[in-house]
Amino acid sequence: MSKFNDDFSKAFATRAIHTPACRDAHGSPHVPIYNTTTFAFDSTANLLEVVDGKKVGSLYTRYGSNPSITSLEEKLASLESAETAFAFCSGMAAEAALFLSHGRNGIVCLGDAYGGTLELLSSQLPLLGIQTNLILGTEIDKLDEILNGGVKLVFFETPTNPTLDIFDIRAIVAKAHSYGAMVAVDSTFSSPVNQRPLELGADFVVHSATKYLGGHSDLTAGVLLGAKDLLEPVWNWRKNLGSTIDPETATLLSRSLRTLVVRMRQHNATAQLIAEAMERHPRVSRVFYPGLLTFPSFELARSQMHGFGGMLTIEIKGDGNAASIVADNLNIFTLAPSLGGVESLVTQPSTTSHHDLTKKERSRRGISDSMLRLSVGLEDPEDLIADLNQALANI
Ligand SMILES: *Cc1c(COP(=O)(O)O)cnc(C)c1O
Repeated sequence: MSKFNDDFSKAFATRAIHTPACRDAHGSPHVPIYNTTTFAFDSTANLLEVVDGKKVGSLYTRYGSNPSITSLEEKLASLESAETAFAFCSGMAAEAALFLSHGRNGIVCLGDAYGGTLELLSSQLPLLGIQTNLILGTEIDKLDEILNGGVKLVFFETPTNPTLDIFDIRAIVAKAHSYGAMVAVDSTFSSPVNQRPLELGADFVVHSATKYLGGHSDLTAGVLLGAKDLLEPVWNWRKNLGSTIDPETATLLSRSLRTLVVRMRQHNATAQLIAEAMERHPRVSRVFYPGLLTFPSFELARSQMHGFGGMLTIEIKGDGNAASIVADNLNIFTLAPSLGGVESLVTQPSTTSHHDLTKKERSRRGISDSMLRLSVGLEDPEDLIADLNQALANI
């Protein structure tokens, strides 16, 4: 059952394939890999024009001024309705550049976030004197007090990992802006096909392109998007931290984007089928998927997303050991961290992403040992459901 209003415009899918500047001098329909670190000029005057930003031109690959990189960024910006996109060598590199360029007046992270993000915010940025506040989704009423204290950057993921919590992007933007603070959304779980936070008023969007944007578990990359003036200081951080994407990965990621829309449509459809099947399964106590009518944030999800995504979490009737037994008996779902690829993956949050937390802290975050997180791939839905059914029959 599709409960969701499919508003992918023709222009969106078309833009995922065509980039205005994608033809090169030889007529290649897609920008090839410019495996080159530097670019030649015929005069110092011409070189100076590019250095001074008076003329657009390729200069030096670490600066991001390489056609393989700039054409990728143009396409990413178009898909997220952003003025500017900067591509990085990983999702964490994109986040680090964001925090260093716009988080120096304090950062508040709302809700659960990726392990690396939490570590950067709680252990490393404070070493540089950056004040960080980490609050749970249930503590959202603390946001006013924190913003009142002068914190200027609100960061959150939506949907979150692994409980698929949905944060109201419009409402948080309105609050943050009323305090003169900016909002950055990690939209990795959705991809721009399913959610475009900048259209809802957010100031920045960050993605681990390693996940759905890349989509084949074969590249590591990140992207930060937003208005041109806000991204200007980020450019220098990326340049001098040296965290720019390389031309080969940029080209591979560009290729992935051409199939992003069809991949996401199938991820959405298959995950919906699996969520509905698991909701009926006698050995499953709870299913966390924003596309289920029974999901507490279903209406909110529908109001800000264009699709509910390929990530879902099931809680089985049984303890952590029973959940491990189910995970170990899956044949098509592969036991591996990460997400967003063509192949289906399974993780047990209590033994992977949230293993370092105490059991008490996990339960404070609504994470139980009997949860299994599924990244639904592009295999036949019937095969995936049969795989889950046979694995669940072992407990
Ligand atoms: C994986 C992930 C990251 C980090 O991305 P890398 O590409 O591994 O650096 C950040 N946020 C979310 C939500 C992720 O899933």
